[in-house]
Amino acid sequence: MSRNDHHDSLETRLKADGFSVIDLGFLDTSHVIAAYLVDVGSQLALIETGPSTCLDNLERGITAAGYDLRDVNRIIVTHIHLDHSGAAGVIARKYPNVRVSVHPVGAPHLIEPERLVRSAARIYGDDMDRLWGEIAGVPEDRVDLLRDGETLAVGKRSLRIAFTPGHASHHAVIFDEQSRTLFAGDTGGIRMPGSDFVAAPIPPPEFDPEAWEGSIATMRALAPARIALTHFGVYEDPAWHLDQVMPRVRELVAMGEAAGDEISDTTAMTRRFDAFQRRKIGDAATDLMMRRLNLANPDVLAAMGLERYLSKRGEGKA
Ligand SMILES: [Zn+2]
Repeated sequence: MSRNDHHDSLETRLKADGFSVIDLGFLDTSHVIAAYLVDVGSQLALIETGPSTCLDNLERGITAAGYDLRDVNRIIVTHIHLDHSGAAGVIARKYPNVRVSVHPVGAPHLIEPERLVRSAARIYGDDMDRLWGEIAGVPEDRVDLLRDGETLAVGKRSLRIAFTPGHASHHAVIFDEQSRTLFAGDTGGIRMPGSDFVAAPIPPPEFDPEAWEGSIATMRALAPARIALTHFGVYEDPAWHLDQVMPRVRELVAMGEAAGDEISDTTAMTRRFDAFQRRKIGDAATDLMMRRLNLANPDVLAAMGLERYLSKRGEGKA
């Protein structure tokens, strides 16, 4: 029994509040990447797009929820990592009515994704296409820049924006004031149905524990009643959940510090990270659970993020 075994009734309540959780079925695996459809009255908003490889699933999921992707006229992405916004350009090309809101530091990469693609290719190599599919630019005149602390009036809703660095420097969360639902992206951590384990995604190059701590305080101050995670799902214990994130981040930093010279051995650190998570998750660490976690938050990225952070810190740059 975990803290999140009441999904059916939660889904009904979400629906009543105008939210639909779309499971993007990333690489044929459920509960890895979510997008959130928000009914704002006369229009629809979409929080996160997922990658282009999930576009068919996104369209099908929106249809199953009783809507149509062509009626979405605003997309808001928490950040520009490909699992969150990789499909934005393809969607924008297909549906000329849609505008895309993003953190100003992320915007240039959404408009001209070449640099983002190059740096992702250094990590994913030949797997780029299988994981992410097409990565197209969003026309500049259809990109809106988010501002920290602003409240966006979207249809009948008020969506408050808060900048929340830590996982990435250009990360933003979205808070629906009416239902007090917080769309927390990756700074809100990762949690999978079936376990109470909250993972901290710490990829290179911008993982920043000090900034992250401030972002957790920012999210706590919003006093959410629910937290909606991109990886994966909606949970009704947001204060408890948010309290898990920084201890996890600190444990990972401590693991990196304890690794000594092994920190630069990505394979060894990847194994350490996997073992750490399995130990924490305990009996719930089934193959499927570990696959979901590793797709949402690849072990190898954690190993690389930790090394990058500790070497920057050693040089006095973090
Ligand atoms: Zn992510």
